[in-house]
Amino acid sequence: MGGLLLLQLAPSAAAAEPRARYEFTEPHMGTTFRVVLYASSRDEATRAAQAVFARVADLDRILSDYKADSELSSLGGRAGGPPVAVGPDLWRVLSAAQEWARRSDGAFDVTVGPVVQLWRRARRIGERPTDGALASARTLVGYDKLRLDGVAHTAWLAEAGMRLDLGGIAKGFAADEAQAVLRAHGITRALVAAGGDIVVSGPPLDREGWSVEVALPPPLHDPGGHPLELCDAAVSTSGDAEQFVILGGVRHSHIVDPRTGMALTGRSGVTVIARTGTEADALATAVSVLGPRRGVDLVEATAGAAAKIAREGPAGVERVESKRWKERAGRQAAICRASSPLPPAPWSPWSSRRRRPDGSRPP
Ligand code: ADP
Ligand code: MG
Repeated sequence: MGGLLLLQLAPSAAAAEPRARYEFTEPHMGTTFRVVLYASSRDEATRAAQAVFARVADLDRILSDYKADSELSSLGGRAGGPPVAVGPDLWRVLSAAQEWARRSDGAFDVTVGPVVQLWRRARRIGERPTDGALASARTLVGYDKLRLDGVAHTAWLAEAGMRLDLGGIAKGFAADEAQAVLRAHGITRALVAAGGDIVVSGPPLDREGWSVEVALPPPLHDPGGHPLELCDAAVSTSGDAEQFVILGGVRHSHIVDPRTGMALTGRSGVTVIARTGTEADALATAVSVLGPRRGVDLVEATAGAAAKIAREGPAGVERVESKRWKERAGRQAAICRASSPLPPAPWSPWSSRRRRPDGSRPP
């Protein structure tokens, strides 16, 4: 199996030394996908980027909860019925999602769909969901109500009306898959940014790491913060910087606590470094829900992960770093030291304006 893979990759992997930096952007999954890569020619770079965007568009067709005909939506439509056979991509995302639901004790939970729908509507009309609506939506939420059969590769949703929402994990997964496509094209020095979910492979030519600027908006912004310097790693940010609604004078995030059905309130920005985009994306959402103390515990318990959390409280902005943060993110990182930062815009997580693939803004 390994030998076969090697044979398939060998011709393009050995094609030529990368010589120049190429950059491509396209809107996908309600955000901007950016690919920065080193290749030996523009042709080679363009072919690889086109394959990446085609793969991401496929994943969006499978994983989107905005598209009524996605595999995810049709699975939701069969909630309460018998188990449903699930294709390989959806299977991998659901398996990872359930793993993070267990690890985070339900802080990360893709069955939040019905509750997220209510808060999306609240953002649209500027009115808080009623207690009654929240209470009945909550009866449809809970990761134990989603059962995966690892032998038959089926998913079973226990109750009619359940809805899955992969918004907290799909972009990280897509960025991982984008890097896999690039590797298959022999490209080993690349950055893929799916909005605030970034995955990097080998460093840029003449550098030891990708410099990634995580610019939190005020008051969370850390004036003393350095750009991250990363290779073969992923970084995700979660927070209320872009998608929020002010209701009764209180800022409500697009992240909800699945256990209470409430949208998170209070300003917070979570940055997670992890081994894969899937892991970083899910973990950043989970840590947002868990808060600094329990969130950092989860990060410390995850191999290769580190996090920095900024949260506004009554006494100002509190900043918490996990133990491995400096080693994973800092200038002293031995194998990934960049000379100067890449520009933060437009792929800085906090400056990308989210759009659906058709160009409209999500509600
Ligand atoms: P962003 O989409 O801004 O990068 P996240 O990765 O944190 O931020 O994902 C937030 C999205 O995840 C929400 O818009 C919603 O679709 C979904 N979501 C909200 N709360 C949760 C949760 N507790 N667990 C899993 N997914 C969630
Ligand atoms: Mg996330």
